[in-house]
Amino acid sequence: MSEKTLVIGAGMAGIMAARTLHDANYDVTVLEARDRLGGRTHTDSSLGNTVDLGAAWIHGPDGNPLTPLAEQLGVGMGYTDFLNESGTAVQAYTADGTPINMAEYTRGQLLANAAFIKAKASILYQPPDNPQSLKDWLEHGLPQPETMTAAETMGFDYWSRIRTEYSDASDWDLINWTMMSGHYAKLPGGDMLLHGGGYKVLIDQLVEGLDVRMETAVSHITTTPEQVHIQTNRGEFSANRVILTLPLGVLKSGQIQFEPPLPTAKQQAIQRIGFGNYEKLALRFDKFYWPREQQRFNYLSDGEPSLFNAWLNTGHYTGTPIIVAYHAGRRARAINQWSDEKLLEGALTVMQRLFGDEFGPIPAPEAYVRTHWQSDPLANGSYSFDQVGQQPTDRRTLAESINQQLFFAGEATHPHFYATVHGAYETGVRAAREVIGIR
Ligand SMILES: Cc1cc2nc3c(=O)[nH]c(=O)nc-3n(C[C@H](O)[C@H](O)[C@H](O)COP(=O)(O)OP(=O)(O)OC[C@H]3O[C@@H](n4cnc5c(N)ncnc54)[C@H](O)[C@@H]3O)c2cc1C
Repeated sequence: MSEKTLVIGAGMAGIMAARTLHDANYDVTVLEARDRLGGRTHTDSSLGNTVDLGAAWIHGPDGNPLTPLAEQLGVGMGYTDFLNESGTAVQAYTADGTPINMAEYTRGQLLANAAFIKAKASILYQPPDNPQSLKDWLEHGLPQPETMTAAETMGFDYWSRIRTEYSDASDWDLINWTMMSGHYAKLPGGDMLLHGGGYKVLIDQLVEGLDVRMETAVSHITTTPEQVHIQTNRGEFSANRVILTLPLGVLKSGQIQFEPPLPTAKQQAIQRIGFGNYEKLALRFDKFYWPREQQRFNYLSDGEPSLFNAWLNTGHYTGTPIIVAYHAGRRARAINQWSDEKLLEGALTVMQRLFGDEFGPIPAPEAYVRTHWQSDPLANGSYSFDQVGQQPTDRRTLAESINQQLFFAGEATHPHFYATVHGAYETGVRAAREVIGIR
């Protein structure tokens, strides 16, 4: 093939777009601004075992293209029982650190989950006239059981608000609940946490043999009838077609100049689709100062959700004493402003409250790593969500190609697997097939 295709971005979408074209004998080059591959998958090895600082789970392994790949490459996959259906996966604590009765708490989570499923089904059959935020729906629409114990109520509240805010990396007043119900689709099989190499192993395999130019940041994209010209910090590149896999946060920021400007409908879609915040703090200790057998710890408050309300015990899967605190939405934006010292102090205070009675004084961690997805100019946030004000057609508009020259991929362009790695994977393949289908 004499025609040239450029792919912008070496995250999962960009790598799969290039992989698909390369395997069909197309001339393709990937331009990536970072000095590492994987984009919003980022596997850290500095703590003595791998920790995924971006995507960590395969959400829905059945029928997922990533599952056979992880199996073939020998990456560990551990089931995470968020709902605590097994009765032993989660321990929740009250604001003062008292362990909550988990039989009752779990019943509350299951009741909330059932209420969500029922509401989603009814919205699918009869979408409401006016879009509703999650907050509106929880405060005014969600039918709650008439009587619940205090522990059941805490489980119900955690699952209906905090858990949804994590899934969407946003806040309940911004999440477009009625759109989410109609559009996001989850594959079956639960949630599998990757460990023992993490997402990096998959990325390294998929990129093999591709021409990727690292540390090549795109700033201007100029389209003429003949060619697309890409200006970067390493000079100009030209091609017949370009596949853009830039994160929605980067498109929103306006840091890439398009000449001619993107169509108005696409610009509106870029602004209306939500792009969330989600940050992690991974701490490694000399030994386990928390129950090793549980996968997750939830920390409840009496009023507004507290900081440090969700913890993942990666040590449960790997045997290495690493625990990860994570924050979403406004709480993620708040802790982003904190110094490392303040963040560590906050984490240790909560750990002491939850685990101190059983494990004694908790020392400073031996090592830690924290994320800054929000202030990372190559991400500008974590992943997309359906936002109040978003239109049902916006993701389709975002995905539409322009003049068979500019093609759009990346998680936010997926009609129903957005916010995931497998969604990004599929959009890369889809955009490459659009290019292949031109002739
Ligand atoms: C904290 C966090 C937790 C997550 N958890 C999960 C999870 O458990 N499971 C799951 O399935 N998904 C999860 N996700 C979402 C998942 O990571 C993303 O949906 C997916 O990785 C996006 O892939 P992508 O290729 O669309 O975008 P990206 O991976 O962001 O790739 C885009 C690439 O473009 C590059 N780029 C940006 N600007 C420029 C420029 N100007 N010039 C050149 N290159 C540029 C970036 O550096 C990046 O490499 C999580 C994300 C985050 C941040």
